[in-house]
Amino acid sequence: MRRRSLLKGIAAGVFQIIVRPSLPLQAGIRRSVTQRVRPSDPLWPSAASWEKLKAKVGGNLLQPQALLAACQTDASGSACTEVLKNIRNPIFIGDQPAGTEVSGWLDAWTPTPSAYAVAARSAADVSAAVNFAREDNLRLVVKGAGHSYLGTSNAPDSLLVWTRAMNKVTLHDAFVGKGCAGRTSPVPAVTAEAGAMWIDLYHAVTTEAGRYVQGGGCTTVGVAGLVQSGGFGSFSKGFGTAAAGLLEAEVVTADGKVRIANACTNPDLFWALKGGGGGSFGVITKLTLRTHELPEFFGYAGGKIKAQSDAGFRELITRFIKFYSDNLFNPHWGESIKLQPDNTLELSMVCQGLDDAQIKRVWQPFFEWAKSSKDLNASDLRGGAGRARGWWDVVARKRRGSDAMISDPRPGAPAIHAWWSGDQGQVGAFLHGYESLWLPAALLRPDQQQRLADALFAASRYKKVEMHFNKGIAGAPAAALAATKDTATNPAVLDAFVLVIIADGERPSYPGLARPAMDTTAARRNAHEIDLAAAQLRKIAPNAGSYVSESNYFNASWQEAYWGKNYQRLRAIKRKYDPDGLFFVHHGVGSEDWSSDGFTRLRKGS
Ligand SMILES: Cc1cc2nc3c(=O)[nH]c(=O)nc-3n(C[C@H](O)[C@H](O)[C@H](O)COP(=O)(O)OP(=O)(O)OC[C@H]3O[C@@H](n4cnc5c(N)ncnc54)[C@H](O)[C@@H]3O)c2cc1C
Repeated sequence: MRRRSLLKGIAAGVFQIIVRPSLPLQAGIRRSVTQRVRPSDPLWPSAASWEKLKAKVGGNLLQPQALLAACQTDASGSACTEVLKNIRNPIFIGDQPAGTEVSGWLDAWTPTPSAYAVAARSAADVSAAVNFAREDNLRLVVKGAGHSYLGTSNAPDSLLVWTRAMNKVTLHDAFVGKGCAGRTSPVPAVTAEAGAMWIDLYHAVTTEAGRYVQGGGCTTVGVAGLVQSGGFGSFSKGFGTAAAGLLEAEVVTADGKVRIANACTNPDLFWALKGGGGGSFGVITKLTLRTHELPEFFGYAGGKIKAQSDAGFRELITRFIKFYSDNLFNPHWGESIKLQPDNTLELSMVCQGLDDAQIKRVWQPFFEWAKSSKDLNASDLRGGAGRARGWWDVVARKRRGSDAMISDPRPGAPAIHAWWSGDQGQVGAFLHGYESLWLPAALLRPDQQQRLADALFAASRYKKVEMHFNKGIAGAPAAALAATKDTATNPAVLDAFVLVIIADGERPSYPGLARPAMDTTAARRNAHEIDLAAAQLRKIAPNAGSYVSESNYFNASWQEAYWGKNYQRLRAIKRKYDPDGLFFVHHGVGSEDWSSDGFTRLRKGS
């Protein structure tokens, strides 16, 4: 802390005790932060201090404006027109320092720009920002691609470390982590700077190099945020979570040091970064992930089946569960189905390692039964395979006239930058409610299948129920299970065959965006219906865990739900690397010691 600021604070009668965690504790005196400062506080850094930080980070210090700020000052100006034109473009939103992929959550959070942002270009920039925040007792926020549903990458009156500009991707034929020479075998890998999106890795690893890296399904999610969540992609049933593939991370911890974390160096921190939640242990500046041999084919099965009666829909769900259990519960099949209140089952399944004929053979009996059943209307049921190498090849897809991916339409945007059209609906969405539950594979046992089907049917009476089979790792190969087990993610993921997601919301509602008034009564009713739907599933899975990055903002038992028995170990690692809670996110490890805004310490970490 700067001495001048301290004197100013004392003169103003402000009681604040500030610690420098990087300094050794002297004479047994433990000083700890009790209150972080805001721009209105006398201890807020002076303009001259900010100028010094700006010089240290190569001029890359910004004062972010709200996403729609340009429209507040000049609604017909070109800047406003540009924002409105791109308000459903996830890559544009990620390019804005105050951009958030989700436009807020009812009664939970509203996108709010930080007071300042360091648009980091290097680990040294990140370290300068972390030191500044710690020494001046600021609320620190970290943002990659801004896809947090829980709003954990934005906070008012904070200093933001924004990694978007750090997005280099490098491939390795034989990677050995620092300090691991002679202890681990060299493996093919990819290193990505923290601001890269998954499409950047898929392009480099699969399209260009013909290999596979386990990342996220949504191509515009940030690599560091997803890996620290655990992270699932369409083919996680074959390869495990994204965190399971982490070989090494470079991370700036609360003391400002740039550390390496891998199996041989700082292994405790390494484990915590593998699923312990983003924004809680430090700022990852780059990470290295194992790559795998690319399967020859990726494939899909899709379509819609609508039952004409409730009884028919219950029977359809029962049949599908049996079909899934007998034919799809294996490393090949992932992605999802949706069970809708209008008695529709929508299929969006994908697979790896099966050719066209194998896929058609697997699905034929189910498709034929659905098509021939009098109580069902089956439309557009189809399945097939293509060369895996073309899966994320945006340019080749466009050449073929495929509309499966939407390209960033801005002039000069890289041709490889695109997102799945299936993810378009989520861009800018305003959430009313969200819930996720891992359901154990024991529910697939023949004597349990009817219970499961009945509970799913009951839940679907309230809300659309999505079953994401790739987000439960039961059924994966032994190597994927073992690697996922060695992460901080709730061990419930290993026994789960599916993550059920029940969520709803409405059109974008960014602050300042002109739109019809929100019907908050209807929105709260919607949130309540999500709770009622989830309650039906809790009857058959009373202690179901929940995926930290796709979960309920209001989950009161989040420690248990997100991390299960791993929570205490994560808490101990947090105390070691961040004893003063510099890194705070809503429902992150150690956040229970702080007020909900992360500004006031409620108790010393236990
Ligand atoms: C449309 C959409 C689709 C999604 N699809 C999937 C999916 O297919 N599979 C899946 O598993 N999840 C998915 N998610 C969830 C997503 O993985 C998480 O929200 C993830 O944390 C987002 O990372 P980000 O960098 O994009 O977001 P951000 O909001 O920038 O960051 C998320 C969290 O990570 C922290 N963080 C970011 N970068 C760093 C860093 N360098 N160092 C330390 N902390 C950091 C932030 O502080 C924040 O707490 C999806 C989310 C959305 C909105």
